[in-house]
Amino acid sequence: MLDEAFKGVTPHDEVYRDSPKYRGRNSLIQPSDFEKCKHTSSNWFLKTAGKDSAYFARMTRFISGHFPHGSFRERFNFEGNRKCLCGKANVETKDIIWFDCDLWIRKHKPPDLMNPDQQGDRRRDALDFRSPTPPGMSREEHIIAEWRNSPPDLKDVAEFLQLNPIVGTFQWLDLAEKAITDHGRDEINSITAVKVRLHTSFRKEAFRQ
Ligand SMILES: [Zn+2]
Repeated sequence: MLDEAFKGVTPHDEVYRDSPKYRGRNSLIQPSDFEKCKHTSSNWFLKTAGKDSAYFARMTRFISGHFPHGSFRERFNFEGNRKCLCGKANVETKDIIWFDCDLWIRKHKPPDLMNPDQQGDRRRDALDFRSPTPPGMSREEHIIAEWRNSPPDLKDVAEFLQLNPIVGTFQWLDLAEKAITDHGRDEINSITAVKVRLHTSFRKEAFRQ
């Protein structure tokens, strides 16, 4: 899997995922989530992560879009690597992390194209109001586009961050940069390469078992 990752960005990916339009919104908070932000002990964030300040900070940053990742570095002109090892785009974005990067354990899945209305909860609600398929787009493309634009459940976001402790950190981008350098020197079993596997493929395999 990681060998695929080192191949780099294909011309198609580059045009599609590097377009400013694709980079999309950063904040995952929807008006219906405002209830979760109450200043009381029933605040959803406090209840979910209040006992772990690092996790709490990571979750609020990820959900608000102000978390360490490639396009954040780009936006604020910070030094350092901006590209994930998966090679899906030249700049790592929130959408790449959430939908496309195949290095992370991901429980949220795209709709079943044969039966898209059988999706759970908010997603089904969002798809109930599906607009007519625009000209030039297939039905399948439209269903996937609607899914990508529908708000994620914040519980899924919290779980994703727990399952992938290095996701959305500058530590990851720095590791990715070193791994690419080592790979270029044929040092495929360097300490960095092992660390990368421990954070990605080994975790995915352990999760599947
Ligand atoms: Zn990636």
